[in-house]
Amino acid sequence: MHLTRIEFTTAKEFAKAYNHLDFLKRLGNPCYIETGDCRSRAPVIITTLLHGNEVSGLKAIHSLLRDDFTFDNPVVFIIASVSAALTEPVFMHRMLKGQVDLNRCFGKTTVATEKPNPQFILAKAISDLIVQYQPKSVVDIHNTSGSGPAFAVIAESSISNSSNTKDDYIDLASHFSERVIVTDICLGALMEMDFNCPIITFEAGGTLDSQSDYHAEQGIINLLNTDKDGNKFGNLDVLSCPRRVMLKQQYTLIYTSELVNDIDLCLRGDIEHFNFAHTPAHTHIGWTNKDIDALLKTDSEAIKASEIFYSENDMLYTKKQIMMFMITTRADIAATDCLFYFVET
Ligand SMILES: [Zn+2]
Repeated sequence: MHLTRIEFTTAKEFAKAYNHLDFLKRLGNPCYIETGDCRSRAPVIITTLLHGNEVSGLKAIHSLLRDDFTFDNPVVFIIASVSAALTEPVFMHRMLKGQVDLNRCFGKTTVATEKPNPQFILAKAISDLIVQYQPKSVVDIHNTSGSGPAFAVIAESSISNSSNTKDDYIDLASHFSERVIVTDICLGALMEMDFNCPIITFEAGGTLDSQSDYHAEQGIINLLNTDKDGNKFGNLDVLSCPRRVMLKQQYTLIYTSELVNDIDLCLRGDIEHFNFAHTPAHTHIGWTNKDIDALLKTDSEAIKASEIFYSENDMLYTKKQIMMFMITTRADIAATDCLFYFVET
């Protein structure tokens, strides 16, 4: 698989003639749009739509092109999961049914032994294209599922392989958000790659939040107009080494306002309100009548779920003061990917 090159003038014509959905239909395939002189200056690379239901980055690119925004820096926009995004109902599918998550396919050494898998091939095509450009920086724009604030994510694994420092990564993040997470979790995400430049994921906010589109567009403008400067967030809140909390495979999940019999884990329907909040110990977050460690696990062998949560009379509580984030109420995504991340505070 390769990425189709769309000429900048063509992309602008599409953006002016169509809304973001029809614009994407015209693009048709995984593609990239280059503008500025990428041969004399290293471009900024903006990737988006690695997940077909996370649309803020696409909307931002569409609106910048439509409004004739001028860029001080050369830039390459890469738009990835076009067919997943366009599958009805549109902008609802993280990836096509039966396929693996594209943002878990980067840098995997198992690629050669996998039977040909279109997601691995697309991930490789995106990586190869980025390498060709020798970029100045890479920003991968996503949304969290549901509702929540914007934040940037930096992967320790990328920093440790890079000649750039952690501060270079944090400087890049500061164009997008005042909140930065530095993670040691390796999932095969694009941000874990080393392109010999700083790379971040920007979670522009929830797919349901209208301001997410604004955050994505404003972040791109802040980054691309660095010659004008003065548009960075100061005093960044940096959270390190979050852990993932996952539901074990065989169990069922629902978001609700009360205990539902026959469902193994019922999480509060308003749990998204805890996103990035300091959540004290003994906060009620749901219901279960299962043993905590039988039901839940973290991504760390060293941390049992029962160290962080407990149940009493079928009510599920936090055991420690924690900050949770990337909380979703999309049960399908939560059950297959993760319920949320947390740091102890
Ligand atoms: Zn995503």
